[in-house]
Amino acid sequence: MKNWVRNMKKKKIKLQHSLETGLIHGKSLTKKWDFSHHVVPPISSSCTFRLESAKRGALGFAEFAHHTDDASIASRAPIYIYDRLGEPNKEVLEENLAVAEKGDIAVTFSTGMAAVSAALGCVTGTDDEIIAHNLLYGCTYSLLTNWYPRYKILTKFVDLKDPKNIHRHINPKTRVVYFETPVNPTLELIDIRAIVEEVKKANKKRSKERKIFVIIDNTFASPYCQRPLEFGIDFVIASLTKNICGFGTDMGGVVVGPKWAYDILLLYRKDFGGALAAKSAWPLLVYGLPSLPVRMRQQMISAHAIAAFLESDPRVAFVSYPGLKSFPQYELAQQQMRDYDGKFAPGSLLYFALKGKTPKARHDQGEKFINYIAKNAYSITLAVSLGHIRSLIEHPSSMTHSAIPLSEQVKNGLDPGGIRLSIGLEKPADIIHDLAKALDRL
Ligand SMILES: *Cc1c(COP(=O)(O)O)cnc(C)c1O
Repeated sequence: MKNWVRNMKKKKIKLQHSLETGLIHGKSLTKKWDFSHHVVPPISSSCTFRLESAKRGALGFAEFAHHTDDASIASRAPIYIYDRLGEPNKEVLEENLAVAEKGDIAVTFSTGMAAVSAALGCVTGTDDEIIAHNLLYGCTYSLLTNWYPRYKILTKFVDLKDPKNIHRHINPKTRVVYFETPVNPTLELIDIRAIVEEVKKANKKRSKERKIFVIIDNTFASPYCQRPLEFGIDFVIASLTKNICGFGTDMGGVVVGPKWAYDILLLYRKDFGGALAAKSAWPLLVYGLPSLPVRMRQQMISAHAIAAFLESDPRVAFVSYPGLKSFPQYELAQQQMRDYDGKFAPGSLLYFALKGKTPKARHDQGEKFINYIAKNAYSITLAVSLGHIRSLIEHPSSMTHSAIPLSEQVKNGLDPGGIRLSIGLEKPADIIHDLAKALDRL
């Protein structure tokens, strides 16, 4: 292999390949790990690493999270010391995740929530404030309302669908603007570019030390369908458990962001301890990320067919899917949800509701529908999570969002009859068959 490297350097061969092929082969040659005789990176399963001398050990500790310049991140062969600090499977995966999100660097974590905590934890401190969209993933909402107030970090929940709302809530304490788009479970979109513009305006009047960062949770769309860093967002976080794992076998999270944040994210992971297990990094690296584009492409074809089927059924009140022409923010969807080739990529999640005269009637219809699916459907499973090769269905009103009283659900735009459907790799006709049977039983 060494000869090959030398020849490549001499000839200055520039590797020309698509990003999608890159997710399968990675960097091909990486300083993170020399596995020249394996086609697939071998699974690394050692918590601690042999150090040839005390001097090398000392160098390893000195170098950890001390990247002296931008080039040292890519060019320095790491001295692995202990799994929580860094380990080959994770680091090769991190290189590929940075490519997938088109970011400078990526740091992985044990779960999506560990990644959310790390991104927010690295850029906030006591007396800072966060502006967040008023509808968030439940555990993120809980982190911001149950835990951060203990450290005197307060969150203002604002409707970011109108980006101008930011200015009414910005003050000298503001440090972060945080949101998800598409929003869970309604699939409404937030205009990423417009938010970046508004925050830029505010940052012009602020010192570099008090800059406001924009952080986005890109779990729903996946990097195949949306790359917020290209629009000027500072940090992307994602749960690897969902679309990127794809097979529902491993949990993980990632923060992708600028080079300057690499060391602080590594230090945060070292001290708070939410390191991705090597045994989970490996399937994400070998199966999950390489198959993301082909899975998403197929799931989007199915999602479109299923959305059209539901939309045409008189018992369905509405279908929210960013790929439908009837989607209220169809134009925005086309602007910001694009695959690696620039094609429209509206994702694999649907949200729809059944008709009913009152909120209570719609809630009961939704529950009845879901219960029928749980008992009788073959191709759709009642379960939370999403981005799985198996289609998963859930009823937010009685499940994930049941803590919110019905009247409040209605106020927040959450339809009590609303059903969230994550489309998997089954034949769309089979999914439609199961849905049609459940509709007939209403
Ligand atoms: C699942 C999820 C998370 C949390 O990820 P875990 O891997 O379960 O910790 C965060 N954000 C969104 C949008 C999610 O769907």
